[in-house]
Amino acid sequence: MQDKSYLMIPGPTPVPPRVMAAMSRPVGGHRTPEFAALLERVEERLKTLFATKNPVFILTNSGTGALETAVANTVSPGDRVLALVTGNFGERFANIARAYGAEVTELDSAWGEPVDLARVERTLAEDKFKVVLATHNETSTGVANDMAGVGRLVAGTGALLLVDGVSSIGGMEVRVDEWGIDILCTASQKAFMLPPGLAMVSVSDKAQAVVEQNRSPRFYFSLAAHKKALSNWNTAYTPAVSLFYGLEASLDMIFAEGPANVYRRHILLGRAARAAVRAMGLETLAGEEWASPTVTAIRAPEGIAADDLRGELKKRWGVVLAGGQGILKGKIWRMAHMGFADRMDVLTGIAALEMALAGRGWPLTLGRGLAAAEKVFLEVD
Ligand code: PMP
Repeated sequence: MQDKSYLMIPGPTPVPPRVMAAMSRPVGGHRTPEFAALLERVEERLKTLFATKNPVFILTNSGTGALETAVANTVSPGDRVLALVTGNFGERFANIARAYGAEVTELDSAWGEPVDLARVERTLAEDKFKVVLATHNETSTGVANDMAGVGRLVAGTGALLLVDGVSSIGGMEVRVDEWGIDILCTASQKAFMLPPGLAMVSVSDKAQAVVEQNRSPRFYFSLAAHKKALSNWNTAYTPAVSLFYGLEASLDMIFAEGPANVYRRHILLGRAARAAVRAMGLETLAGEEWASPTVTAIRAPEGIAADDLRGELKKRWGVVLAGGQGILKGKIWRMAHMGFADRMDVLTGIAALEMALAGRGWPLTLGRGLAAAEKVFLEVD
């Protein structure tokens, strides 16, 4: 069936029917009491999800726009910035800081490895930084970084901690205040189960004080403008109104399931996907202890053309996986289990991969990957 497809890329992710229905409502005005009330309701729940007392600004832009908002408002030319880079998106965050004239020190981990906290500690002890950039969940490698650990190290150095939570928030637990995150950035098209177009950014008082004196130019991305607007339950510019309707519906779903259950579901899906990968005789890029609950990166075996097989998965089985980025191009597959994802999604992805690999002569016993995932699911049921 040509129209049926199983979207398993790490964003955009499948949008639940309930969220689609909410977004199909007639578009209303944004300078209205109704929109102000919607904003107030959504804001309250975002704060709960972020575990913060800080305001959460809902911006009409993609995740990269959120990262740029964070940098433009806190980094001035010549500022010293420490970037903890574990893959493509960590690199992007560092490049945004460079674009704003920062003097960036990059602490790189091998792709597939997490942030090395001991190195971070040493670097922070040797040098003084105004800002530290970190990625909660590195989508390009399927690595979850220890943000509580990073937060503990940055606390007390005086630096601001800016965190990219684009592919984690809504699927992985975050505790903004407890972990000392000054600015947390996320976006709508991943674990939030929405189409692309909204970004959410929480800002601490400490960061807000820096925002006000920062020397970098900004207009659309001005957090001062967003702060002023939000204090009147308003937005600075015309928001993506329909996506706000969808956001309320997706938050309804997250809170009906319960955030803790949502996080447990993601952990389970990740565990099952990795067990299946191993049972097929393949390897994940990330080690089990730091593997992401929202996306699994699978090493393509020697002799199997990764992107060509991905094309076959899509054409023959309707299963859409992502490929590798940067230095991992053509070397891995990335299977997301993020947002509106359940056990049957993982089984679907694994079944398609098994069939495609078997067709190319990879020595596996059909069904072994599936059995390993099923076993993980049955253990908890
Ligand atoms: N950071 C991370 C961790 C991401 O996964 C992505 C999107 N894949 C981005 C930033 C960029 O977000 P966007 O594509 O919405 O600009």
